[in-house]
Amino acid sequence: MTPSNPTPNPTPNPNETAPCPCGSSQTLGACCSRWHLGPQHLQAPTAEALMRSRYSAFVLDRRDYLLATWHPSTRPIQLEPPEPGLRWLGLEVRCCRPGANPNHATVEFVARSKLGGRAQRLHEVSRFLRESGQWYYLDGQH
Ligand SMILES: [Zn+2]
Repeated sequence: MTPSNPTPNPTPNPNETAPCPCGSSQTLGACCSRWHLGPQHLQAPTAEALMRSRYSAFVLDRRDYLLATWHPSTRPIQLEPPEPGLRWLGLEVRCCRPGANPNHATVEFVARSKLGGRAQRLHEVSRFLRESGQWYYLDGQH
């Protein structure tokens, strides 16, 4: 991108009016996509909102967002493309707990997917950290 060719609005995603993959009853554009791109990029206000937006980013294969919201201390150098045929089926957020202080939080969730006809279930307790106002995914226990 060059200064002479500004792009004030990212290309609208054709799915912005579809139901958000995270399972909220909102549209993608009114829910997780706000944090993926546009003026509110990376501004998910809570650990749960960040967790949901990361699930949606997995569904939409927005790997840049996954890396940008991964804490630098645990962030992989790069993310592999999703396995061909992988389909995400849904997210269930079990509970959110505040951490030791307002900048720490844990979120327990179950994410379901299907690969090659086999159902998969990821049950994880994720830890989140807030630094300089931005929430980051730190790590998770299965
Ligand atoms: Zn969402």
